This record gives sequence, C-alpha cells and structure tokens, in this order.
Amino acid sequence: MTTPTLVVSEVFGPTVQGEGPSTGRRASFIRLGGCNLHCSWCDTPYTWDGSSHDLRTELTRTLVVDLAARALEGAPQLVVLTGGEPLLHQYQPGWAELLAALTVAGVEVEVETNGTIAPTAATTAAVARFNVSPKLAHAGDPEHIRLRPRAIAALRATGRAAFKFVCATKGDVDEAAAHAAAWGLPLSTVWVMPEGTDPVTLSHHLNAIADPAIGHGFNLTTRLHVLAWGNERAR
Ligand code: SF4
Repeated sequence: MTTPTLVVSEVFGPTVQGEGPSTGRRASFIRLGGCNLHCSWCDTPYTWDGSSHDLRTELTRTLVVDLAARALEGAPQLVVLTGGEPLLHQYQPGWAELLAALTVAGVEVEVETNGTIAPTAATTAAVARFNVSPKLAHAGDPEHIRLRPRAIAALRATGRAAFKFVCATKGDVDEAAAHAAAWGLPLSTVWVMPEGTDPVTLSHHLNAIADPAIGHGFNLTTRLHVLAWGNERAR
C-alpha cells in the first residue's frame, strides 16, 4: 500500500487570505512546489526557480496526512492551495487524497492558479473557488505559454472562477480588459490587483490602476498580507 505524498514548499496559517474575493477571510495555505511559468516579478520563486534557490532544500515530498493536519491546525474555515502552480499536481494520487481530507474536515478549499491548466472534474467538485491569475505581457513569458484560452474557458465553465489580473499601470488594466472581453469573462468575475511585495510599491500601483479598473467595470483588490507583513514568508 502506498502512502500519498505531494511536493510542498510550505504550509502556514491560520493567517488571512490577502487577495481577491475572499480578502480578509481567516485561512491556512498549502504552497505546492513547481511552476510552468517564469514570471519576472514572481513573489514565490523559491517554489520553482532553481537558478536562484536551492530547490532540494526549499521543496519537500511530504505525507498528505501531515499536510492536511498542519493546514487544519487552528481550525481555519478556508484552506488555500497555492504555489507555484498547484494544478500541476492534480494527477498525483496525493492531490485527490488531500482534497478528500479537506472535504471531510468541512473546510472550504480555494485553488490559486495561473490559468494555463484546466481543472479535472474531481478537482472542480472539491473546490469552492478558483482564483485564476492569467499573466499579462509584463510577466515576461511568451503569450502562447502564459495565456491558454482553452484552460481559461474550462475554468470559466466551472462557474466558480474569479479572474485576478496583476497590474502596475493603466496600460496593464487595458490589456486585462482586452483579454477579459476576448474570453467572454463576466465583469463580476474579474478582479484587478496591484503588483508589489512592499506596501509603498503596492500603494503606488493601486493608485495607478484603481480608476481604470472601476472604469472597465472590474472589481479591485489589494494584497492585505503585504500591507500587514510586507514580503515576509509564510504570512
Ligand atoms: S505563475 Fe505564479 S508562481 Fe508561477 S512564476 Fe508566475 S507568479 Fe510565480
């Protein structure tokens, strides 16, 4: 009999969900290892970037039963599966095991994804919300790698997706609007979030994007954990 595992970067909480529709909700996080993108401003390169981090020490193959137990410490109502890109793990036996453990515990599960991978039916059934963050040109990867319209359509079709665009300028918001229109995203499901890992940069970008976001009919979110704790890890 095998014992399911997943490759994990860190498990932390309770803290708060800092971004998107659940901003401010008490939550714990399971950050899985690996990503299929290489965003220039990535705030978690220690999950995937072997050129700047020693991934042999950053990432640990961990028993799912231990991951779930740690995430449920402190009785959070919400557990967020993040990364890296967590949907890279959804064909691992440990993924199903983890979703089952969290479902049995009665917590809501959110998945944070870059929108390049369609969720399986089993994943969709266990997840309350997908926080989908398609990457704009300033992230740096070629468009055919960072934007996958079929995956976006599959995520939209779940009826449980919020689309969150990281923006620094009005031009970024306009770019997000063009994608949202091309993909037929309902405006109520689109969020714009300032890029930044310190409160000053975050505030500067928020000021730049707030009016354009409202003008396009989008929702606006900050990054509450950055305002509270800066770029501190596991917060
Ligand atoms: S998709 Fe997310 S985790 Fe992956 S490189 Fe981009 S910002 Fe980092």
